[in-house]
Amino acid sequence: MNTAEWIRLAAERIAADAAHLSRLDAAIGDGDHGHNLERGFAAAVAALPEGDAPPGKVLLAAGRAIVAKTGGASGPLYGTALRRAGKALGDTPDLDAAGLGAVLQAALEGVRELGQAGEGDKTMVDALAPAVAAYEEALAAGGDLAACAAAAAEAADQGAQATVPMQARKGRASYLGPRSTGHLDPGAASTALLLRALADVA
Ligand code: ADP
Ligand code: MG
Ligand code: MG
Repeated sequence: MNTAEWIRLAAERIAADAAHLSRLDAAIGDGDHGHNLERGFAAAVAALPEGDAPPGKVLLAAGRAIVAKTGGASGPLYGTALRRAGKALGDTPDLDAAGLGAVLQAALEGVRELGQAGEGDKTMVDALAPAVAAYEEALAAGGDLAACAAAAAEAADQGAQATVPMQARKGRASYLGPRSTGHLDPGAASTALLLRALADVA
């Protein structure tokens, strides 16, 4: 799988959806989520190594750029996720189905470690954790990379939708207490978008 293609498609989709993601954040946060990510992913695209770099290097470069250029809670979280994913791959020349599974696991661990959110706290973890689980399940059932990535994207969509009734326990939205219920979490929505882009590239 071509990870640079994924970063480019993700950046395009984030840019196209930035206003929507920021509107979601305006309801339960400070309204900057889409624009934070638009800036971060544009920086990631600009930082992509030239030529045919190994996927681990691509993800590391993208992650570093996102950490450096993205404001808000989501910048360090997504940046760390990508850097961890890149480190997990090392110099592996090609990304196969098992490799992409390891990438997603490493990304989830990075987000969990840095953000300390669990499932049910109304964050990006509520989209990412079920996506990783669905990926692993599809892999164990013999699915190829495309099938596993499609299963992950589907689970991320459902996981994001499931944040609507939740009360936020992490991030800015948690300041609202019970008033954070009834809204889609913006970070869960952007995670679902990123995993859909991944499935479309895979
Ligand atoms: P900020 O809230 O600092 O403005 P963003 O708006 O860019 O940052 O991102 C908000 C999103 O970040 C939330 O919708 C949530 O999904 C995610 N988030 C916030 N805090 C955490 C955390 N501790 N762990 C995981 N995700 C988090
Ligand atoms: Mg925000
Ligand atoms: Mg902010």
